[in-house]
Amino acid sequence: MSSATHSNPIVGHFIAGEHSRGGDRSQPVYDPATGAASRRVELADRATVERAIAAAQAAFPAWRDTPPLKRARVMSRLKTLLEANADRIAALITAEHGKVLPDAHGELQRGIENVEYASYVPELLKGEHSKNVGPAIDSWSEFQALGVAAGITPFNFPVMVPLWMWPMAVACGNTFVLKPSERTPSSTLLIAELALEAGLPPGVLNVVNGDKEAVDTLLADARVKAVSFVGSTAIAESIYRTGCAQGKRVQALGGAKNFAAVMPDADIEQAVSALMGAAYGSCGERCMAIPLVVAIGDRTADAVVAGLVAAIGRMKVGPGSDAGNDMGPLVTRAHHEKVSAFVDAGVAAGARLVVDGRGIRVPGHEDGFFLGSCLFDHVQPGMSIYQEEIFGPVLGVVRVASLDEAMALIDAHEYGNGTCLFTRDGGAARHFTDRIQVGMVGVNVPLPVPVAYHSFGGWKRSLFGDLHAYGPDSVRFYTKRKTVTQRWPAAEVREGANFSFPSSR
Ligand code: NAD
Repeated sequence: MSSATHSNPIVGHFIAGEHSRGGDRSQPVYDPATGAASRRVELADRATVERAIAAAQAAFPAWRDTPPLKRARVMSRLKTLLEANADRIAALITAEHGKVLPDAHGELQRGIENVEYASYVPELLKGEHSKNVGPAIDSWSEFQALGVAAGITPFNFPVMVPLWMWPMAVACGNTFVLKPSERTPSSTLLIAELALEAGLPPGVLNVVNGDKEAVDTLLADARVKAVSFVGSTAIAESIYRTGCAQGKRVQALGGAKNFAAVMPDADIEQAVSALMGAAYGSCGERCMAIPLVVAIGDRTADAVVAGLVAAIGRMKVGPGSDAGNDMGPLVTRAHHEKVSAFVDAGVAAGARLVVDGRGIRVPGHEDGFFLGSCLFDHVQPGMSIYQEEIFGPVLGVVRVASLDEAMALIDAHEYGNGTCLFTRDGGAARHFTDRIQVGMVGVNVPLPVPVAYHSFGGWKRSLFGDLHAYGPDSVRFYTKRKTVTQRWPAAEVREGANFSFPSSR
């Protein structure tokens, strides 16, 4: 196997089964733990993206006609190869994203589960059949591939989010052009190599690294029939509108601001442990992270804040590649500055900064993009740290008097990706899960990220489109329904012309 993904200081593209170059522009890719630019990523120009689309278009007819069981076997082999290469892939994630290695392995494992689900595709593509819908007439619905599909993915899950998309898309018979985040581009190229090794024909999966120019080319090209996007809300909304206007099928998953509500009867110790991972895991750079706790009652809030302060004191912050660290750096210096500015704004707005992670020093990594855990108490709606997605290790506690008040706050927020309730009260949990206006809900589960055989998606401005990502929805997203009605009367049966609308009357 090529070692292009590891040793080459230039990260290019993967088109028609080969590593490829293309585009005059490039930008640095950083090792967030050292702050040093470790490689450069090429930013695909229009011609390069069009080459990838052409490769996908050329590979489509034969791949569409490949029996689903054979397509599924490629997915099974890919699962085995991903498992065998897990250490290499996780190391690449950590080197460009910064997250700690066990977290990178967790991300990969969730991605592998999507590949595993895609290997069930013969079962998932079974259609619907009705015999005798009329005299000697049978009818069935089948699910056909769309053609070339495209995926545009964010920096924070460089492996898992692409694996939400292309394995099911290609298992359904489509071909694919993937545009990963230019901040974390390398792991996808390695996985494209592994897919080829697993038996995926050249051109079925193509990877173009790049930025807006690449995305705009994908959106403008009539050969691209469907677009899956995951990223920030402003871009998601724009991609949804542009793609739909071009007649494409689009699902665009956006940003989030997830609340955890804590009832007075909750197991506070367990809730605090869960909140620590949900708020500070992956340095808060998760769309299902919990950046806000709504504590019901002051006694609950006091206990939660005290527990969090103690737990933050025990956290180890340092390079993601060092065993034993709990939290690595933020992804880039620009993002570090943005998150730090949010902390400044929270202080200026009057929230109480109980733990200040600014100014943390990691010996030997002074230029790394590290920010220590920050904890605010007395956060109020209207503050920017309440309203906006920070995407960093910043947790805020909001104090309310009742569960209804907590639910009203959650429902009023523009995002509706995930939420959870900590309680021992089954009635409260049932009321919460039934009524809350959020797409993914946990009870005593802080990160209710659905498993691969359910679908993932938020409500409100966290998702634009009708179908959620991966799981059963993805089979519908990447196929179009065709319904066939067929009549085979006995040879002697003859019917005259009938001018009334056919019915079963
Ligand atoms: P981003 O929106 O900056 O980038 C996402 C993708 O869009 C990248 O591939 C990027 O190259 C491309 N892009 C950026 N600007 C563009 C433009 N102007 N036109 C066209 N394409 C453009 O997001 P990010 O910073 O990489 O990722 C973090 C965001 O992703 C957060 O908002 C997070 O909540 C969200 N996210 C959401 C989910 C979810 O499932 N809802 C999952 C992961 C991340």
